[in-house]
Amino acid sequence: MEKRKSSSRMRGRRKAQRNAVLAVVAFIVAAAGIIGVVAVAGGGKSRSVSENPDVKESQLQTESEQQNNENGQNENSSTGDENSAENGDGSSESETSESATEADGGANQDGEVTGVSARGYEIRLIDGVSYVNGILIANKTYSLPSDYNPGKIDDTVMDAFYEMQSAAAAEGLNLYISSGFRSYNTQYWLYNSYVERDGKEEADTYSARAGYSEHQTGLCFDLNTIDDSFANTPESAWLEQHAQEYGFIIRYPKGKENITGYKYEPWHLRYLGKELAEKVYNSGLCLEEYLGITSVYSD
Ligand SMILES: [Zn+2]
Repeated sequence: MEKRKSSSRMRGRRKAQRNAVLAVVAFIVAAAGIIGVVAVAGGGKSRSVSENPDVKESQLQTESEQQNNENGQNENSSTGDENSAENGDGSSESETSESATEADGGANQDGEVTGVSARGYEIRLIDGVSYVNGILIANKTYSLPSDYNPGKIDDTVMDAFYEMQSAAAAEGLNLYISSGFRSYNTQYWLYNSYVERDGKEEADTYSARAGYSEHQTGLCFDLNTIDDSFANTPESAWLEQHAQEYGFIIRYPKGKENITGYKYEPWHLRYLGKELAEKVYNSGLCLEEYLGITSVYSD
């Protein structure tokens, strides 16, 4: 008896230690997110980006295109079929070095077409990042390179968040970002601590493996309380109705778990721009269905 008790105490202690480690991880991740948000808030105002809506739209395209097209690019380049003649601005060529690797030079700006989705959209790989109909995709099928690291939430996405936050505040609701950009390394650490706690099968239902997280794109964030209780808040109800008006979708909707590969996450919003977010919302489809793609790990 005594022996069993003490071994159960041991288990309890080990569990407590694991939980303590996870609490520290969660805290660090949250702190990193807040620092990122503060940095964005501090630097955002002076950016010229907000003055040119076309440039804003082009940020949804690729990092390299973004730096390539300071003069703005029509958003309907959603085919990903960028025509360099449209760039007009000769200075753009010299600005690619920041995102281009030594290997690809200027030759790989449009990447390569790797296939067509089940709904007929072109799938293009640019510097290791997948775009379906020009939409950057990170899910269980389409991973990101470990060095893909925008470092923070995209400025356009933050502007859209502030607009949405103000609208919610006008109705007495409080929206705040709990977790924004997460690097490959942060995700590696986070996912593995969940695997340690709950096992791989369970962890895969709510946490992405490193390189597969949408948080690594800088185009999404988690709002408010990141747990199931959030679904019962007025903020969650408001987001379910209005997020698309500000360019966001609830990325992992209820009832689509088998398609997105993740359980319902009412707090996780992905930016698509107002036009596309409205279309996806009105379709009643999740993003995978809308684009005709899968979200399944290969192993
Ligand atoms: Zn999330």
